[in-house]
Amino acid sequence: MTQTVFISDLHLSPERPDINRLFFDFLERITVATDRLYILGDLFEYWIGNDAANALGQTQVLAALRDLTRKGIPVHVMRGNRDFLLNEAFSQATGCELISDPSVVEIYDRPTLLTHGDRLCTDDHKHQQFRDLVDDPEWQRWFLAKPVSERIRLATDARSRSELNKSITAMEIMDVNPAAVSAALRQHGVDLIIHGHTHRPAFHDVIMGRTRACRIVLGDWFQHSNMLRWRPPADIAFAADSDAVNRA
Ligand code: MN
Repeated sequence: MTQTVFISDLHLSPERPDINRLFFDFLERITVATDRLYILGDLFEYWIGNDAANALGQTQVLAALRDLTRKGIPVHVMRGNRDFLLNEAFSQATGCELISDPSVVEIYDRPTLLTHGDRLCTDDHKHQQFRDLVDDPEWQRWFLAKPVSERIRLATDARSRSELNKSITAMEIMDVNPAAVSAALRQHGVDLIIHGHTHRPAFHDVIMGRTRACRIVLGDWFQHSNMLRWRPPADIAFAADSDAVNRA
């Protein structure tokens, strides 16, 4: 039996080695009969450039992803609001394909809108301002030109008054705006959206006039692993790690 697996919001960080281990186990065990793995943002608690990966204990994660792609499992990674600086160097190190946010992909012939989800939280004006700032290539060049130690300080120092820190450390995550969800579904002409970010895993019906769509929200990896498993044609369900692991 084949499957496509979706995960997001792992927030991998050296401060939570238990979650890193869960992730490594997961990667080792999903290989059989998994067609594709989608990681829809916030794989890392923060990502501040490939040259900082060593200092942040992230190289093991890169190696684990590379092992998976070398086994022939395609892995598609979307940037989240914490790892928005993932770039080609990450792709080259891991063999993962970076995909745009949003992306429409055919999953077993069903067009599906994939997004990290924070852009749907339109009521959170502060966050949208932050996202506009850090998505600006000029801001990214400015940030990446700083020494690694300075970047780490900016990303981690809770007392820092920088925009970066104000925006990504102490912010409660608002839920998505329903009108933004409907607009995105209409714009892309699909009736299924899968996203993360809000850490509120659920299946939602979305009523749009006479049509009905579905919004699936992925869970985070704070207490345990969380994944969505899609078996063709349309068997879509959350799965515990042990279920998602195929025993073919
Ligand atoms: Mn997020």
